[in-house]
Amino acid sequence: MTSSDLSTLILDRIRDVPDYPKPGVLFKDISPLLADHAAFSAVVDALAGTEPVDKIVGIEARGFILAAPVAYRAGAGFVPVRKKGKLPSETFAESYDLEYGSATIEVHRDAFAKGDRVLIVDDVLATGGTAEATVELVRRAGAEVIGLGILMELAFLKGRERLQGVDVRSLVIV
Ligand code: AMP
Repeated sequence: MTSSDLSTLILDRIRDVPDYPKPGVLFKDISPLLADHAAFSAVVDALAGTEPVDKIVGIEARGFILAAPVAYRAGAGFVPVRKKGKLPSETFAESYDLEYGSATIEVHRDAFAKGDRVLIVDDVLATGGTAEATVELVRRAGAEVIGLGILMELAFLKGRERLQGVDVRSLVIV
């Protein structure tokens, strides 16, 4: 499949929901894509890539849906990055600013072996705050971030600018 065929497959199956979860936000709903076997599997294959990787990190919650099959496809382990208070054992935590207030995400301290090669996966890259905090968590936990695999990047929010030095691999950029 060419990258333009893949882009069309993705763009036709992401639904724009205006004013969700709050006024002014155009929510990118990936449910139609997930429900389509051909599109979902093409996305998983593209995100998995071909280079060797030890762990795939999924960011709660929609990142989990993509990252788990990517881990299976890539022959790698899966590691969840979760919102504060959800992981049962000892964690590293990172806080980042939201439009109103802040958020904290965590990873288990023993999630990685030293020097593990890690690919982080999420559905949407918006302001980049979540991804930036996740990169920091993975590094603090002793692993190497080889890339950030994103289904859809919202270019106007300039998230990529916060991720200098990270190989951001977005399947579609809008
Ligand atoms: P950010 O930290 O601003 O890059 O936001 C990225 C996180 O928020 C990802 O985990 C996305 O799932 C979610 N997100 C942000 N904006 C949107 C949007 N317009 N549609 C769907 N999900 C979004």
